[in-house]
Parts: sequence; structure tokens; C-alpha cells
Amino acid sequence: MVDLPSTPSFRLDGKKAFVTGGSSGIGLGCAVALAEVGAHVVIAARGKERLDEAVAAINAKGMSAEAVVLDVSDIAAMRKVVADHGPFDVLVNCAGIGRHSKALDTTEEDFDFVAEVNWKAAHFVSGAVAKGMIDNGIRGSIIHISSQMGHVGGIDRSVYCGSKHAVEGMVKSMAIEWGEYGLRVNTVCPTFIRTPLTEVTFNDPEKIAWVMSKIKLGRVGMVEDIMGAVAYLATDASSLVTGTSILVDGGWTAG
Ligand code: NAP
Repeated sequence: MVDLPSTPSFRLDGKKAFVTGGSSGIGLGCAVALAEVGAHVVIAARGKERLDEAVAAINAKGMSAEAVVLDVSDIAAMRKVVADHGPFDVLVNCAGIGRHSKALDTTEEDFDFVAEVNWKAAHFVSGAVAKGMIDNGIRGSIIHISSQMGHVGGIDRSVYCGSKHAVEGMVKSMAIEWGEYGLRVNTVCPTFIRTPLTEVTFNDPEKIAWVMSKIKLGRVGMVEDIMGAVAYLATDASSLVTGTSILVDGGWTAG
């Protein structure tokens, strides 16, 4: 008889995941994806009402989630949440924002605001979660929702693109540093997905024409397009994948 290989597990039963920015859009999709494959998901965001509604909806479907009100740019508060609720087996860092402007018009305030959430908080939440994994011998998975804009440039997006390129470099360095502990660090890079964040772009005919000219598969993304990539990176199915990114961009960066 041929000794057949078997597909590694796509399940997270008994595992605990932390999803930042999980009350809306892509982050909510990530939280559901992890809960659907068996994880208990701790979801963080600033706004309590939307967060509580998201958690209630997940639990109502028989999955397991809890809410933590947190501004990830408050590093001390974030560290306390991770210490109180961890250790985690999986981190999906999705909290992110955009304040788009022409590079010559960018204010220092907008630059700092975007950099604090998209880059600085991403760095320190990775560190806090990784420390819990290392201290507890957990061979965990850290996933950042970066962007195709972490690989290309975009109109009026010098700050946002800079922050996401920073995440891409950060992830490669952390993957090198934490590989010896069995930690994996990767990004998922979506194209334009319909969420509250992108409403402004979708309402601008010039911008939507630009977007549609770039996506080879001829449609913008949906939250569901991201969920499989996150479940893959979170589970043993991807156990030799680290320091890289999965582009869910309909072919944008290929061309
Ligand atoms: P969204 O619907 O606006 O969701 C953003 C989430 O992050 C919300 O849960 C929000 O909740 C939370 N959040 C924002 N700032 C936070 C903070 N300082 N601390 C904690 N939570 C915070 O946006 P989205 O489109 O799903 O985007 C999510 C991520 O995907 C971002 O990192 C974004 O850059 C990335 N992305 C999006 C697209 C796209 O086309 N939509 C494409 C590529 C990459 P509160 O406001 O209540 O805190």
C-alpha cells in the first residue's frame, strides 16, 4: 500500500486568538473565520457598542468570542489586555486607518495618527503577543492585515502606503527573529474591499475607475475574500510559511 500523506489541520480547536480591529469590516471577517474553525476569539476595538454587537452575533451562532475595549495605540493599555487575556495562539492585527492626502499637503498630525496605529501599534502588539507565546512555549501564528498598498504605491496614499510597507519590512524581520521559537509572522494584503474604511474611495468616480483598471479579475473585494487566507495562515496548514505575505488583490500587483 502507498503511504499517503494527509492534509494538515485547518482547525484551531482549543486555541485562543486575539483580533484587533475585529468589530467591523475585514477584522470582523477574520474573527469569524477563526471562530468558525474552533478558536475562542478575543476581539478588540475602541467603540464598545459595535464591538458588543459583533461578539453577540458570533456567540449567537454557537461560536466563542469575547469583547475588549482597547485603543491599540495606547501601548500600556494594549500590553495589559494581552497580559490579562493571553497567552494567545494566534494574533490577527487588523486595527488600521487611513487619512489620505497629497504628499505635499500631508499634515504632521495625520502622518503621526496613521503611523501610530498602522505601524507603531502593529509593532508593539506583535511583541506583546509574541512574548506570551515564547514564555509559554506556544508555536503561534502572528498575522497582520497589511495591504496591497504595502507592495505598490497609490494615489494620495504616501502615508498609508508608507505605513503598510513598514509593516511588510517589520514582519520579515520579526519572522527571522522569532523563527527559533517556532513563531510564524506573515501578512495578508487585500486589494480594495468594501468596508466603512473604503466608503470614501468607493464614492469617488475617479478613484473607483482607477481601482477597476487595476484589478485583473474585474471586481473589488469582499470581506469573505480575506477569510480563507487568514484561516490558512492561522492553522497548521501553513506551518512552514513565515516572513511573507498573501496578496488577495485580484492580480493588481502582478500587473
Ligand atoms: P473598518 O471597517 O473601518 O474597521 C477598522 C477596525 O479597526 C474597526 O473594528 C475599528 O473599530 C478598529 N480600529 C480602528 N482604530 C483602532 C484603534 N486605534 N484601536 C483599536 N481598534 C481600532 O476598516 P477595514 O476596511 O476593515 O480595515 C481593516 C484593516 O484592513 C486596516 O488595517 C486596513 O488598513 C486594512 N485594509 C483594508 C482594505 C480595504 O479595502 N478595506 C484594503 C487593504 C487593507 P473602532 O473604530 O471602534 O476602534
